[in-house]
Amino acid sequence: MGFCRMCDIYKEASDPKIRDQVKMLIEGMASKERVSDKEYARRLDICGLCDRLSGNTCLACGCFVELRAAGKASHCSKKKW
Ligand code: SF4
Repeated sequence: MGFCRMCDIYKEASDPKIRDQVKMLIEGMASKERVSDKEYARRLDICGLCDRLSGNTCLACGCFVELRAAGKASHCSKKKW
């Protein structure tokens, strides 16, 4: 079983530095693993209109959408992106 960075962040959700941590993880992803800025914005726009979004967290999968949306291999569990 692989290490889930998202769950690790979730445990620290009350930390005021959470946004910086998410940003660092995204920036640390290899460029071949990241979607383009345009695709990233498209995904987050969809999440922003979704009734499953609570704060920065997707209630369908439990992930921080900012991090999940950045990965080429990631997908929306509700097939919205
Ligand atoms: S990942 Fe999918 S289900 Fe979750 S908030 Fe975004 S669009 Fe909604």
